[in-house]
Amino acid sequence: MTANYQELCLKHPCYAKGKKAQTGRIHLPVSPGCNIGCRFCDRKFNDYEKRPGVCSSILKPAEAVEVVRKSLELCKDITVVGIAGPGDTLATPYALETFRLIRKEFPKLFLCMSTNGLLLEEKAEEIIETGVDSVTVTVNAVDPVIEALLNSFVIYHRKRYEGVEGARLLIEKQLNGIRKLAKADVTVKINTVLVPEINLYHIETIAKTVKEAGASIYNIIPLIPQYELSMCSVPNCAQIDSSRRLAEKYLDVFKHCQHCRADAIGVPGEKDFSSEIYSRKLNLA
Ligand code: SF4
Ligand code: SF4
Repeated sequence: MTANYQELCLKHPCYAKGKKAQTGRIHLPVSPGCNIGCRFCDRKFNDYEKRPGVCSSILKPAEAVEVVRKSLELCKDITVVGIAGPGDTLATPYALETFRLIRKEFPKLFLCMSTNGLLLEEKAEEIIETGVDSVTVTVNAVDPVIEALLNSFVIYHRKRYEGVEGARLLIEKQLNGIRKLAKADVTVKINTVLVPEINLYHIETIAKTVKEAGASIYNIIPLIPQYELSMCSVPNCAQIDSSRRLAEKYLDVFKHCQHCRADAIGVPGEKDFSSEIYSRKLNLA
């Protein structure tokens, strides 16, 4: 039985409405590859950068179980096991494989995954069977012309689609996937990377569209200008506030996002235990 939206709002730190939550999450970096080309994506392996797409190393599913065990010893506040990359969680089979192992070993922890949504429609049944409690889909635009400015290509069933053609395919798959999960009562959260020069005036349309598809909560993530979008600006507070207010007309908005690493461990925005876990190497073999 998966958690419902109300339970997640109480126990998942990234579903907290109003005040920042005091529960924790662990991100397991088991998903190395990706199947789309976001123009702001710069995946890296290091110990010092605090942002999505960065982790110390990739874990194998069996190693991830041991990392969860050790993390629970260090941080009693962890309620959620999440997989958020560093690539896409559905582009390789490791995330769902990891969740099946975690579900068996730690049945009380919530399972949460983030995806770009390209494969969401076709993997929805497997996600539901695995017992994933919440799925975050990054939807940066619902207009293919705008999406093409944020994403250069998608690779779908070994074929590469560029520009507007790829963007149209991605949006279609994302929305169909959200509809399928919502119909099965899996809670869906939407992340949108806000790029002032590209999608600032599109947020209301995104929020309305994903709400109609069945999403419950929305999270606006300010752009970190890098890679092909290094010339774009970081949204200012007024832009973030006005975007949130427009989104709030349609669905709940999460306001405490911390730009976490793909191997973050602990309560978001507080002490992170990942360096302790990964520097010890844990005798994972
Ligand atoms: Fe990078 Fe995530 Fe976009 Fe893939 S979906 S290119 S990992 S930001
Ligand atoms: Fe939660 Fe934001 Fe961190 Fe993801 S990046 S775990 S949504 S706080």
